[in-house]
Amino acid sequence: MEEVGIPVDRRMALVPFADRTWFHDNRSLLGHLAGGCELCPGPLVGAAARARRYHQFIDGPVMLIACAACKAKGCVDLEVSYADATGQVLKVRVEHEETVANNYARALLGKQGAHLKRMRSKRAARVLPAKLGKRVHRVDVTDALSLCYWNSNHRMSHGSWYLELWHTLPEGLPRCTTFGALMGVRNSDKVRKEARDHAALLRARRRDAAQKRVALSKLMSAFMGERDAVCAVVRAGAFEGWVQAIELCSAARAFEARWLFRWGGHGGLAPIEWRDNQQKLLQMDRAALGAAVRRVATVARVLYRGFRRYSSYSKEGSPERSAMLSLMRNFSPAFLERGPAVVDQIVELVRCAAIELTYPANSCNNSQTLLVTYTLAGEPFDGRRMEIVSYFSDHIVQRICKKFGFLPVGDETLTQVMLRGLRACVNRPFAAGTDKHDRAIRNKARAEIFGLPAVWPTWLLA
Ligand SMILES: [Zn+2]
Repeated sequence: MEEVGIPVDRRMALVPFADRTWFHDNRSLLGHLAGGCELCPGPLVGAAARARRYHQFIDGPVMLIACAACKAKGCVDLEVSYADATGQVLKVRVEHEETVANNYARALLGKQGAHLKRMRSKRAARVLPAKLGKRVHRVDVTDALSLCYWNSNHRMSHGSWYLELWHTLPEGLPRCTTFGALMGVRNSDKVRKEARDHAALLRARRRDAAQKRVALSKLMSAFMGERDAVCAVVRAGAFEGWVQAIELCSAARAFEARWLFRWGGHGGLAPIEWRDNQQKLLQMDRAALGAAVRRVATVARVLYRGFRRYSSYSKEGSPERSAMLSLMRNFSPAFLERGPAVVDQIVELVRCAAIELTYPANSCNNSQTLLVTYTLAGEPFDGRRMEIVSYFSDHIVQRICKKFGFLPVGDETLTQVMLRGLRACVNRPFAAGTDKHDRAIRNKARAEIFGLPAVWPTWLLA
């Protein structure tokens, strides 16, 4: 080789595998002389193949020194190991790189596997079609493969056997050393085309998924302020926080926007299985979604201000939270869209108002209606009395009796004694310095009263 003029580094690459090297044509010789590819006139290391800087032959029946482009077109990387103790069946894994050659090899092996399964099964129609992208296959040992293995110094006795095989070889090289001959599969243009189409399909799917991920993260960052507002009043990352976020969304009539407010554990991104649900947000009308998210943020900010005012914990579930939320559930979406300052003023006004509970003057005994009179104190409706006719059901009466320890009577209505008790609870002192227990009872009772089905006056929520 020295006489011909093959440089020393190429000689060093060729000599250890002298039994698998052919100088098959002029191009091969020129490749060796110039230190380039044996199959094409290009250099060994192209601009696109920086990863494979140096040629390294792993193992196989034929050593061809080729550039990355030629290898991607025709060379398959395999990992072979015994599938069972008999040594007659091999497990063949095609490397994960999605080159044309590897895709074609996967499709050929997949087709062959499906064919064998169909031949062996009693109900051929039930055998599923071949998986073209399957990486791991079971292959029977062929004679050509045995011969090749014999040359490899029994590599599989101490682990997997890596080798590279070519789909087609240049003229002059033995035919029995191609991938098809060793694996016992027949080359087919139809399968080659199917493999190409399948790879294109996978690429398109991956591209779609990537685009959706980008769009979702853009959406998330577009609503960063609103998400932070919600994050400040829920236990983000815990399941309890997810329930709190759902409560917030339902109070803001924005249930469909709830997936925007789901955080993964440890403050990270949401797990993959929520991604599908989050991606539904992308299909929503952007204006409607924006309005819904702003409403949720308004509710969250009003809650936060309420908690700050009486210095209570903003992330825990508390009677205070349920009182404010059940009050805000009565507000119309249009009113909520007016912003946290306006909503907070009304919430504070109603929370501080003195409440009287009476039966309406003209009601009969079983009408299940209740007149709730609020005496508002503070801007903008100072001194105004607000009368709201509320309704209650048997279920609500039972719940109130259970919560406040009243003795229920048979006809499932609120007696005068109960009303007096409830009124005492509702009007307990609540200023910042007062007993926490008093405030909790007051908020618990107010949550019940605010939650009663009623029509709220339009002048309050204008
Ligand atoms: Zn090449």
